[in-house]
Amino acid sequence: MKITSITTTLIHIPYEAGAPTKLAGQNWSRMAILLVRVDTDDGVSGWGEGFGHAIAPATKATLDTMVTAHFIGRDTSDVEALMGEMFQRLHLFGRNGPVIYALSAIDIALWDIAGKRAGKPIHALLGANGPRELTAYASLLRYGEPAAVARMAAQAASEGYRFIKLHEIEVPQVKAAREAIGPDVKLMCDTNCPWSVPQATEMAQAFKPFDLYWLEEPVWPPEDHEGLAEVRRVGVPIAAGENAAGAHDFRHMFAVGALDFAQPSMTKIGGIGQMRRIAALAQVAETKLVPHCAYFGPGFLASLHTSAVLAPEAPFERLYVKLEASPFGPWLEAAGGKVKVPDGPGLGCDPDMAIVERYRSAPDHVTK
Ligand SMILES: [Mg+2]
Repeated sequence: MKITSITTTLIHIPYEAGAPTKLAGQNWSRMAILLVRVDTDDGVSGWGEGFGHAIAPATKATLDTMVTAHFIGRDTSDVEALMGEMFQRLHLFGRNGPVIYALSAIDIALWDIAGKRAGKPIHALLGANGPRELTAYASLLRYGEPAAVARMAAQAASEGYRFIKLHEIEVPQVKAAREAIGPDVKLMCDTNCPWSVPQATEMAQAFKPFDLYWLEEPVWPPEDHEGLAEVRRVGVPIAAGENAAGAHDFRHMFAVGALDFAQPSMTKIGGIGQMRRIAALAQVAETKLVPHCAYFGPGFLASLHTSAVLAPEAPFERLYVKLEASPFGPWLEAAGGKVKVPDGPGLGCDPDMAIVERYRSAPDHVTK
């Protein structure tokens, strides 16, 4: 049950977004998926994913040059103990960013292995019978033009989504979306940290007429938890956490009353083990857990399993794009605004290697 090799594979799958979109100021038209396969000496392999998008090549390099070697020869039977050791051993290389993204991928792969060995899906290993279907939310990209925002929001609503999230930062776009979907569909707005605390306070007030289910990351920098708590006093529910550096960041956010919704990200926070810790903290803080999931690899599947158990009532994030091909069959789909939770052992689905072959965008790296 020892790790014999770890392989990293980077693929990029083109997608249709319905309107032009950008990420961090760059044109964005292909979805990066960093796949990490952990092989063991009893023939069981597990798959994981590290974050993601434009930083996926750096996460891959971090795995290949530094992280994977620490795991070769190690026993996989106690995932929590092994991961705990590695978080501490590698801490001086960064407690947020590619090292933690890399460890997230390995943690997910080790849980996949544990599930396959036990013959149980990860949601069953987590110890509860959660639902096999979750309500998804359409996470629209940033289009900028109010007409495009209205068109895409209306399209998502017509497909059955009852929760729709925008990535916009101005009033006309949010107004256009609300008018397009009517009062009954829940509307969220993710702003990606654009404002100072006074600006964010003003914008939260300006968004009030549109009945946001949550306003996401309105404050720059994301570490300003006290500032976020101040904006929350406007009375618009606040969501954040995808940029948090671990469970201690969440503990502080909860302590200062910064959040209505906590959004740890499976492939950024350290994987399933860290998600469980944060879920426990959120429960004590009586704050809703609504994990971030803006990706389509094993991190998506791991999020399905953990959400089914730890956040069964929360809307599940599904980026509103049409991938040219799905490396995980039907599990990435959100038909009728619902996602299904796999019931096979481990993550419940290995990648389709024909699709991996077709979209590979960098040489695989194998550590033995
Ligand atoms: Mg976000």
